[in-house]
Amino acid sequence: MTDLLPLSLRVEGRRVLVVGGGAVASRSVPGLLAAGADVLVVAPEPSPPLVALADAGSVRLERRPFVAADLDEVWLAVTATGVAAVDAAVSAEAERRRVWCVDRGDAARASAWTPGVARVDDVTVAVSAGRDPRRAGRLRDGVAAALQSGDLPLRRARPRAAGRVALVGGGPADPGLLTARGRRLLAEADVVVTDRLGPRGVLAELDEEVLVVDVGKTPGNHPVPQEKINDLLVEHGLAGRLVVRLKGGDPYVFGRGGEELAACRAAGLDVEVVPGVTSAVSVPAAVGIPVTHRGVSRGFTVLTGHEDLVATPSALAGVPVEAHTVVLLMGVSALATSAAALVASGRPPSTPVAVVEDGYGPRQRATFGTLADVAGRAEAAGVRPPAVVVVGDVVTLAPGWPAAATDGTGAGAGPPRHRTTAYPA
Ligand code: SAH
Repeated sequence: MTDLLPLSLRVEGRRVLVVGGGAVASRSVPGLLAAGADVLVVAPEPSPPLVALADAGSVRLERRPFVAADLDEVWLAVTATGVAAVDAAVSAEAERRRVWCVDRGDAARASAWTPGVARVDDVTVAVSAGRDPRRAGRLRDGVAAALQSGDLPLRRARPRAAGRVALVGGGPADPGLLTARGRRLLAEADVVVTDRLGPRGVLAELDEEVLVVDVGKTPGNHPVPQEKINDLLVEHGLAGRLVVRLKGGDPYVFGRGGEELAACRAAGLDVEVVPGVTSAVSVPAAVGIPVTHRGVSRGFTVLTGHEDLVATPSALAGVPVEAHTVVLLMGVSALATSAAALVASGRPPSTPVAVVEDGYGPRQRATFGTLADVAGRAEAAGVRPPAVVVVGDVVTLAPGWPAAATDGTGAGAGPPRHRTTAYPA
């Protein structure tokens, strides 16, 4: 077989004839309509979907057999009648008139074949695979999946008309916990603004030309102030770039995503927010702690442990004491006062606590204790941020929970066992 010539046809406003009214013919129509074609269907017995399209004014329908004059004014024909003689007649007449014809009745006779098509946003990939449509279909699906996941270099070579900003939740640390949408946007990004949390491993996969701005550390080791980060997003967005703000966890859980969104919107930029796996739920899970568990915890509350929970008693007001889990983010430095505030608000000193550092990262470690002693244990163990503090009976479900700590005295958690459930297990 000689090579085919792949072409992308601009059929918008041009007449395309579809002969046949069954399932095969119907399948051709949506693609033609999506491309804006002026579709004429000729079929004595059209199927209900075609009738519905005609009733809606999307196609013109002639309920009668094909006649040669149907090819008048036509740029492209599709024949799929299921009747060999009719398909052959349409093909022959189209050939005589030099109109390209997709002949579903006989691929060998057809002057045009339709490829398998993978479409993701503004990218279209057409696949033909010998004369094996199922093989082409599988390849198309594979290409579509790779496009969706960002495995292919989607980044634009030409500047876009308008910039865009995506606030992407990166999950806790492992690139495997980044969403497919997030990965795809990273594959398209011109600029990536990142900080110390989140899946930094994905940065290595970025194209060399992508500008990576790390706002987590500056020469003096001070993080870049939020206003500067907002300005950076706006500046690159207004310059017509696709800017990905890669954030740890979820952008809206203590991530200042709302402020970044507002700043970009105020500048007139189009912004997309991609949720992420928050550390509040996933980091406990990394060491085997479910934040809720039937019969143990009916719900959970996520608080910042950065604010002094003693100085802000309202932070704990209304948070259930019974069968409830409290999760503190940014809670390492004020752990002692937070634990005291949790006791002062009615939780027993023996309430189990886990401090989970660097969940899903190379330093992942869990330190266990109770509200009475966890601060001392954490200090002795040299616990460092980032860490999630989990308070409540669900902590005892962790495989690493030392049984001695449950004796109710709040004193005897034994030596903390480091490094419990690894990920992947
Ligand atoms: N938006 C993030 C939270 C940002 S606040 C999210 O949804 O996860 C920063 C805090 O998140 C840290 O102080 C720590 O408490 C927690 N954190 C984030 N990633 C973590 C990780 N891999 N391990 C432990 N704690 C983490």
